[in-house]
Amino acid sequence: MPKVLFFDIETAPNLSYVWGQWQQDVIEHVTEWYIICFSYKWEHEKKTHVVSLDDFDLYNEDPENDFDVVYKLWQLLDEADIVIGHNSDAFDIKKANARFVYHNFGPTTHYQTVDTLKIARKYFKFNSNRLGHLGEHLGLGGKEVTGGFQTWAGCMKGETKAWATMKKYAKQDVDLLVDVYERLRPWATNHPNRNVIDSTSRSCPTCGSDKLQKRGVRRTRTMSYQTYQCQRCRSYCRERLTNTSARPDFV
Ligand SMILES: [Zn+2]
Repeated sequence: MPKVLFFDIETAPNLSYVWGQWQQDVIEHVTEWYIICFSYKWEHEKKTHVVSLDDFDLYNEDPENDFDVVYKLWQLLDEADIVIGHNSDAFDIKKANARFVYHNFGPTTHYQTVDTLKIARKYFKFNSNRLGHLGEHLGLGGKEVTGGFQTWAGCMKGETKAWATMKKYAKQDVDLLVDVYERLRPWATNHPNRNVIDSTSRSCPTCGSDKLQKRGVRRTRTMSYQTYQCQRCRSYCRERLTNTSARPDFV
């Protein structure tokens, strides 16, 4: 079975010098951004986890050192076959990699990715492709209130209440991500094929279910395919028919 990981990271803002207030160029970063927490869930799990700076002893001595959080994230991504997030190809994965190389961990083993923002952009035209909007629009629920910048600032000051808000927010983000992913999934014709990762499988290449229902035969110029629809995720797949007598010699 392929290992499928949902995740979302939260970063601290840069702390920087500027000369003024309005549309400023940064003169110098005093402290550059780092990862304050991330939330994740394995596909087969019921529970969503949050890993944050204050989970580790290091936080008491060096509250801006994200080494332990980043190492935990590295281990998860290294274990995953498919990694799923919202805007994760452009943001979360690259932010994570930036911290991996900073801490000199080296690259994780290869995984395939699914970015729900890319699916939303490619196959639909919603008013907004933000996760919170998609969740509400599709009737799946919204995001937790973040409390705005105060929550981030509170976490960086070590306030217990701010951390609690942050963790609740981070957890809800992944729960919503899973729901949005499942709704958009059958439309994603370029979804990674699980049967390539697990070649012994004869199940739905998109979700792994064996509840495939026949949906007629499709013929191309050279080949015939049995089409199936998965009764769990509603995506389609096809199987090449091996009836060689029906195959023309000249194509
Ligand atoms: Zn399926």
